[in-house]
Amino acid sequence: MKIADGPSRLVPPSPPKPAAPEPASARAVVDTFERAPARLLSKLGVPNPAPDPTAAPAACGPVEDLVDGVVELARRLGVGARQLVGLVETAVAGLGESLRSEFLELLAEHAPDLAAQVLRYGATADAAPSLTPVFQDLLLAARASDDPDLQQAAGAYLAAHFDDAQMVEQCLLDDLRAGRTDDGFRSFLYGFFAALDAPDSHEAMELVRSAGLLDGFLAATLRDENGDAVPAIVTEAVGRIMETGRLDVYAETLASIPITVHDPATSGRSGSHHYNHGDDGVYLNGTATEITGNDVGAVASKLAHELFHAFAAHHGASPYSAVNEGMAIAADRYALTDGSYNVAEMVYGTKNWYRDVRNPPKPDYELGTFEDADPKLRALLEDLASRDSSGVAWDDTERLEQEYADYWEAIDRDQPWADWLAAAEAATRDMIVGRRPRRAD
Ligand SMILES: [Zn+2]
Repeated sequence: MKIADGPSRLVPPSPPKPAAPEPASARAVVDTFERAPARLLSKLGVPNPAPDPTAAPAACGPVEDLVDGVVELARRLGVGARQLVGLVETAVAGLGESLRSEFLELLAEHAPDLAAQVLRYGATADAAPSLTPVFQDLLLAARASDDPDLQQAAGAYLAAHFDDAQMVEQCLLDDLRAGRTDDGFRSFLYGFFAALDAPDSHEAMELVRSAGLLDGFLAATLRDENGDAVPAIVTEAVGRIMETGRLDVYAETLASIPITVHDPATSGRSGSHHYNHGDDGVYLNGTATEITGNDVGAVASKLAHELFHAFAAHHGASPYSAVNEGMAIAADRYALTDGSYNVAEMVYGTKNWYRDVRNPPKPDYELGTFEDADPKLRALLEDLASRDSSGVAWDDTERLEQEYADYWEAIDRDQPWADWLAAAEAATRDMIVGRRPRRAD
C-alpha cells in the first residue's frame, strides 16, 4: 500500500464518519498515540496537525492503520531517529506482545527505511534498555524483508548486541542452518560483519565454524558480478582461507564484494587476477592454469591476496601503492603458511618492480601509506606484520621512505629471482642493523 499519497489519518475528513466498532484495547492505543504527537510537535515547535478533538477518531481499526499513521506522521515531520523511536514506542506501548510483533512486522513491510532507522538507533548506546523488546521484535520482523538497507541495519543491530547469545543463535546460526541464501540474508550478514570489529568478526566466524556452518556461510555470501552463485573452485578456495580463522575480517568482504571468474578474451578485462576499484569486485582469469587445473590451494592464495585489496579499499587504504601490494602478498602467506616472511621484500620489491620491470615503467609508483587505515584494517595489518622478519615500517611512513632510500632504492629488481632474493636478504640485514641505536662515542 502506498502511504505518502494517502489521506492523513490524523486529520479525518469533515464531516467525520462514525468510528467503526473496534476492540477497546486498540482504541486506547490509538488515543494514546494521538495525544503523543501533540507533545512531540510542541517540543519540535511545529504546528500541530492533530485532529480536531471534537471530531470522531479516525477509523483506526487494525494495527495496520496505526502503523500507517505513525509512518505518515514521521514522514510529514521528518523526525530524527530519537523522535521516531519515541513515536514507535508510544504506538506500541499499549499493544500486547502479539500485536506489538504485528505492528513491527507491518512497519518493516510498509516503511523499511524507517524500520532501519529504528534499528540503527537501537544499535547505539543511547537506546534505553526498556526498548529492547521493541528492537528485538523489529529485528525478528526484519528477517523477512528483501530491503537491503533494512537488512543491513538489522545486522548492525545484532552486531551491537553480539553478547546476546540467544539472538545470535536465532538470527545468525539458525538462519544458516535453515540454508538461507537469499539476497536479504546476504545483506544482513554484511551489516552484521561490517559492524563487528576484528576480534568479534573472528569470534562470530568461530561460532559459524564450530557449528559446522562454514559451507552455509559461503553459500549465503559468495556471489559473482551478476548476483549468481560462484563456481565451485571459488567456494572451495575461499573455504580454504576461512577455515584457517586467520582472515576473518574478510567475512564482511565476502558478503558484499562479488568474485567473478571471467574469460579475458570476451570480458575485455585484464588477464591478471585483480580487484577492480571502480567496479568494487574481484576478477579471476578463468583461463589461468590454477583455475583450469582446479588447483584449490593456488586459487586460495590468489583470493587471499585480492580480497585483501578489496577489504583494505573499504577501510582507509590508499588504493595503488607498494605498501598495499606488499601487504596483499603478505596476506596470502599469513593465511596459508605458518612460518615467517619478509614483508620489506614484498613492499620494496613491488616499488622496484614498477620501476625496473614493468612495461611501460612507472618509476613514480607510490610507496604509499596506511596512515588512514581504520581500526579494523589496522588490526589485520598488525596480524600480517606479526610474522614479518623484516619489521617493515608499514605504520611509519617517514621511516618506510627513509629505509627504502637507504637500503633498497639502489637494488635492480630486473635480475634473476634468486639474485634478487639474495640482494633483498642482504638489504634486510643491513636495514635491521641500521635500526639499532648507535653507541655514543
Ligand atoms: Zn595485488
